[in-house]
Amino acid sequence: RRVGRDLEQIVQFRQSHLSKNLSVSYQQPLKIVRGRGAYLFDEQGKAYLDMVNNVCHVGHCHPHVVAAGQAQMAQLNTNTRYLHDNIIGYAEKLLATFPEPLSVLMLVNSGSEANELAFRLARAYTGSEQLLVVDGAYHGNTSGCIDASSYKFDGPGGEGAKPHVMKVALPDPFRGPHKGMGRDCGGQYAQDVARAVAELTEQGLKPGAFICESLQGVAGQIIMPEGYLEQAYQSVREAGGVCIADEVQVGFGRVGTHMWAFETQNVVPDIVTLGKPIGNGHPMAAVVTTPEIAKAFETGMEYFNTFGGNPVSCAIGTAVLEVIEQEQLMAHAHKVGQQLQQGFKDLANRFQCIGDVRGLGLFIGVELVEDRDSLLPATQLTGELVERLKQKHQILLSTEGKYYNVLKIKPPMAFSSEDAERVLAAVAQELTELC
Ligand code: PMP
Repeated sequence: RRVGRDLEQIVQFRQSHLSKNLSVSYQQPLKIVRGRGAYLFDEQGKAYLDMVNNVCHVGHCHPHVVAAGQAQMAQLNTNTRYLHDNIIGYAEKLLATFPEPLSVLMLVNSGSEANELAFRLARAYTGSEQLLVVDGAYHGNTSGCIDASSYKFDGPGGEGAKPHVMKVALPDPFRGPHKGMGRDCGGQYAQDVARAVAELTEQGLKPGAFICESLQGVAGQIIMPEGYLEQAYQSVREAGGVCIADEVQVGFGRVGTHMWAFETQNVVPDIVTLGKPIGNGHPMAAVVTTPEIAKAFETGMEYFNTFGGNPVSCAIGTAVLEVIEQEQLMAHAHKVGQQLQQGFKDLANRFQCIGDVRGLGLFIGVELVEDRDSLLPATQLTGELVERLKQKHQILLSTEGKYYNVLKIKPPMAFSSEDAERVLAAVAQELTELC
């Protein structure tokens, strides 16, 4: 039974009246009308297992989060120019999850806006607008964020790095020049940050900020080798720059062992940006920084954000933190993530096309290759596998990385042990036919 507009009509309308730059997932697009836990439902009531959406972090339409938003919407929504308890309660709760000296919170509306503000803070504090960015990374859709995103400025329609932007090597221990997860390998990749800093110094410049995700998302679901951030941060700080950890994709306990993925690299950033999961789908985001950096931003120019930190967003943000705690989602991500990762590792023993399985908690990448020696990316196979999983098994996955040969796995944290078994069985069945 079809409900609402026909799929063809919707696609045509989008192309004529919404930007053609909007992309659609899958060869035959899905019309999704409802969500619950780790499941999405199309207009005919068919259930799909969502393995990609790290935004609806505690589960699609989690009742506690929905109720908190509804109650506050019925009471009041306004801006930060009035005093309100919600923002204080939320700030206390969120900041309690950060190590010292990260104790100042600024609330915004999207990951892009958070990174844009992070760049302004860094510039105010260091006096330098020079940015060090990781090859292949993505940090957002604003002009400033596109300039910081090699995924965009090096990709289709891009115009290369701007003069104030310097790229550093992607610390990819599988496909990159240095292999392995050890500290020596982390140090080798960090050397490239030291190289970039030295080049700036030679030009009489200093780094403003080094921005790096705590695990690489768009660049290919990559877990960085031990000690990378520690050593990279050291070079940047010695030259007077600050270090921004982009936790937009990977924060809020997804890695299973820690609330923040930077903790797995044993560092304390100067600025942390949060987004996607923070509001379980409600558009909100945040910047967390030190009192010293916050002070440098007090130039006399007011910072006003119409929607950032409003009572409804703060009620929702608080409810998300409560669910993470109450349902012990971090421990759950650790357990189910390990099970899923181990399952994929077992499949790698059977299927030569699985070149690498990596992950922390419920952030996992499975990289498919034509050949384990040459590491030639199996781009077509990966695309075909994703389509088949959707068509035949109602499992939603997508691809990531420079060659689109990495299965991107970052489901809502409600993803269960049974879901993991189901996915592994489906992948095994399809790879038996495809490989
Ligand atoms: N940083 C990272 C690492 C991201 O993945 C994204 C979005 N994919 C952003 C920033 C931008 O966030 P938003 O789309 O909410 O502006």
